[in-house]
Amino acid sequence: MDFNLNMDQEILRDSVRKFAESEIKPVAGELDKKEEFSYDTMRKMAELGLFGIVVPEKYGGQGMDYLSYIIATEEVARVDGSHAATIAAGNSLGIAPIQYFGTEEQKQKYLPKLCSGEALWGFGLTEPNAGSDASNSSTTAVLDGNEWVVNGSKIFITNASTKISAGVTALCRTGTRDDGRPELSCILIETDTPGYTTKSMHDKMMWRASNTSELYFEDCRVPKENLLGPRGSGFHQMMQTVDGGRLSIGAMGLGGAQGCYDMALKYSEEREQFGRPISKFQVNAFKLADMALAIESARLLLYKACWLRDNNMPFSMEAAMAKLSCSELMHDCANHAVQLHGGYGLMKEYDVERFYRDQKLLEIGEGTSEVQRIVIARHIGAL
Ligand SMILES: Cc1cc2nc3c(=O)[nH]c(=O)nc-3n(C[C@H](O)[C@H](O)[C@H](O)COP(=O)(O)OP(=O)(O)OC[C@H]3O[C@@H](n4cnc5c(N)ncnc54)[C@H](O)[C@@H]3O)c2cc1C
Repeated sequence: MDFNLNMDQEILRDSVRKFAESEIKPVAGELDKKEEFSYDTMRKMAELGLFGIVVPEKYGGQGMDYLSYIIATEEVARVDGSHAATIAAGNSLGIAPIQYFGTEEQKQKYLPKLCSGEALWGFGLTEPNAGSDASNSSTTAVLDGNEWVVNGSKIFITNASTKISAGVTALCRTGTRDDGRPELSCILIETDTPGYTTKSMHDKMMWRASNTSELYFEDCRVPKENLLGPRGSGFHQMMQTVDGGRLSIGAMGLGGAQGCYDMALKYSEEREQFGRPISKFQVNAFKLADMALAIESARLLLYKACWLRDNNMPFSMEAAMAKLSCSELMHDCANHAVQLHGGYGLMKEYDVERFYRDQKLLEIGEGTSEVQRIVIARHIGAL
């Protein structure tokens, strides 16, 4: 076994860490307060190569492995959840379905601009009545001549209503199977398609500088060739995409937890009460020790899941484990970090307050913690 990162991964980690500290950290609090998606940091993240990290170079990507992508996401999450969300959704949810299931023509058409950061792409799975029960999609697509006619809506879709959002991969009912169950297919719908409208969602508790949208399709006519992969394989494609996405949510949990720990350690060494730093009270020192231990354990689990993926081995259960473990890790670390900051931790002036809010999505998005337990329980045969 080799626990060392390779040289490319080390270089990537260092450069993303430096970038996140100098370009994102100083603006993250203000963007969160103003609920503003930053095109400026988006451009800078793209220039650094943070979109299309695992996409082959011939489509404009970096051609790196999945662990590299996870490390980059982790480093951004260490300073801000919203920016990490833009990257994670951009790569795992926007780019991945086209990269893995698209035709050569679709890849040539969309991947270069998604990898350069010129455009973003949404992943339209969730609907008002189809959340955890994602296969209960009621958005329909009916073939009429050479076009799909799409009707329905999606909710909570990341990166889908920015000025540079070029489209969405939408899961649609395209018919009924022989066994009576719905036939589900993915269709690529470009933003400027007549009948397609988006509405940004505001007043989120968390990820306030990330873009989240409702999508509406009203007799939206899309070319027949915008079907992604074989007809009827949409749900399978979405679930495979979500397996990779869960690793990036894991990276956000791990990076966020590391950020909380870093802030908590620094603050507890500086803050004095009863004539000594609060870190010197055993109860607090043990809290910090527990955080360090849990972070190290979760990192091993997440990186192992990435290693399985990079070596083309099944990783679905490990992705669910890593997502569950890292999101609950950040929950605990954010809670401890705010506690160690005392009253100051409740003030927006301190980044730890934002981390405390941002953490919550990780236990809900891309399958809630309950859903991850269901996935794991099925894999081990308990359900
Ligand atoms: C900021 C944000 C960004 C998002 N980005 C995207 C995106 O880009 N694309 C996308 O498609 N979706 C996105 N989502 C949607 C997200 O994936 C869903 O919110 C999530 O899957 C949960 O669905 P729901 O909100 O409908 O909750 P529900 O499914 O209604 O769940 C409510 C509660 O019931 C529990 N529950 C449900 N079923 C079971 C069960 N069988 N057993 C036990 N408990 C159960 C859940 O665990 C949860 O606690 C985003 C959400 C948010 C908030």
